[in-house]
Amino acid sequence: MDKREFLKASGAIVAGTILSKAAASEQPNGPRENWAGNIAYGTERLYTPGSVEEVRSVVKSSAKLRALGTRHSFNRIADSTAAQISLKNLDQIVIDETARTVTVGAGVTYGKLAPVIDAKGWALHNLASLPHISVAGAIATATHGSGIRNGNLATVVSGLEFVNAEGELVRLTRAKDGDRFLGAVVGLGALGVATSVTLDVQPTYQVAQSVYRNLSFDQLQHHLDEIYSAGYSVSLFTDWQNHRATQVWIKRRLAAGDANKWEKEFFGAALANEKLHPIEGHAAEACTEQQGIPGPWYERLPHFKMNFTPSSGRELQTEYFVPRDRAYEAILAVEKLRDRITPHLFITELRTIAQDNLWMSMAYQRPSLAIHFTWKPEWPEVSAILPLIEAQLEPFETRPHWGKLFTLAPAKLESRYARLNEFKSLAASYDAQGKFRNEFLAHNLYAS
Ligand SMILES: Cc1cc2nc3c(=O)[nH]c(=O)nc-3n(C[C@H](O)[C@H](O)[C@H](O)COP(=O)(O)OP(=O)(O)OC[C@H]3O[C@@H](n4cnc5c(N)ncnc54)[C@H](O)[C@@H]3O)c2cc1C
Repeated sequence: MDKREFLKASGAIVAGTILSKAAASEQPNGPRENWAGNIAYGTERLYTPGSVEEVRSVVKSSAKLRALGTRHSFNRIADSTAAQISLKNLDQIVIDETARTVTVGAGVTYGKLAPVIDAKGWALHNLASLPHISVAGAIATATHGSGIRNGNLATVVSGLEFVNAEGELVRLTRAKDGDRFLGAVVGLGALGVATSVTLDVQPTYQVAQSVYRNLSFDQLQHHLDEIYSAGYSVSLFTDWQNHRATQVWIKRRLAAGDANKWEKEFFGAALANEKLHPIEGHAAEACTEQQGIPGPWYERLPHFKMNFTPSSGRELQTEYFVPRDRAYEAILAVEKLRDRITPHLFITELRTIAQDNLWMSMAYQRPSLAIHFTWKPEWPEVSAILPLIEAQLEPFETRPHWGKLFTLAPAKLESRYARLNEFKSLAASYDAQGKFRNEFLAHNLYAS
């Protein structure tokens, strides 16, 4: 019996004895891999429970288990060699108008959530570049959008419910649980299986976005904060050639009666008069509306529309966080590698993220610039470049995005997260035996 057959057979026994049909180990038709197709998951066994009770049963009966979101991470953070559990069937959305919160089942994606709350007059503070990801999976890795005053998506979590390794349901809130809560929100899947997440909402708003072309990096030396403050959310894109950002995307929140006027020039960059994709040559129809056309927050804050393939499709991603007050220096340090980087790159995006107090957040107590790379699917070449970029960024004590590709040594990671030991103790208090610990966590958090 080979590994696949063994896992199928043993999965069927577990499912048959203790779980309902809905929670049974599912054998998907296609290959079991992440969205980008660069990671083949190490198990055939995927549980898809239909209720919190079924989640508890799966957790109790599993020796090892890893929660899986919508599979958008590029590394093995969601992987397991034993079993994964998808919460996609837990899809309730409950708005509390008085508390100004929405509580979502862990399977809910931002794409599903946003129009529902908008129809009731509510909005979230920000979104990532794509709406396709699950709320639970996004907050677990401190996923972020842009905006000099916007914290990452996990910063609006006000409550979290998860099943710990014993199969018990744990509820933590920002209001009552202090430090424990701040440690648990960006949980990297290490504390348990989240079943629901409560998020702060605010009255709905309109956003208009415009794109400018060719902003010289020289402008960043003295005007970086001004440039990133020119909108509610600002992104610079570059291919690292010619010392310039190829595109600047500015997303402005519109107040009632706002003239919504866009200057023809922005720090020497020219207002685009056609819709653009961040990657030259890609069709712009996948992108959210530009040219200053106002629309609801959830149709402008992401770069990509829900019903289209976001970004490039077959690609790899990497992202490094550096302190915002040293952002220009860090950009120049990476620029030195431009002729190594560009041949393997689709595009780089430079975004700002406000600091926060979530222990494992890449922006923990540090206003940040995130230097992102969307790579061509050329792992041998990309994996040779990453250590070079990491060496260039060494003076900036860079923190890599938890859901993207990096090669930084575990000892370095440890030195960049002041609360790491407390995080490990917190994880142990919910999972004493390491049931939720996979190879990614063992290597990156527990090896040094
Ligand atoms: C095209 C593309 C664009 C992207 N753009 C951005 C961007 O703009 N900004 C950004 O910051 N990132 C971005 N990312 C990265 C992505 O947002 C993160 O990797 C995110 O964590 C993916 O969420 P997911 O639902 O797919 O979770 P997965 O990748 O499936 O899992 C991620 C982590 O969440 C944990 N997890 C998932 N569900 C649960 C649960 N119920 N309970 C406990 N833990 C759970 C997993 O165990 C794992 O540790 C992008 C990715 C892609 C593919």
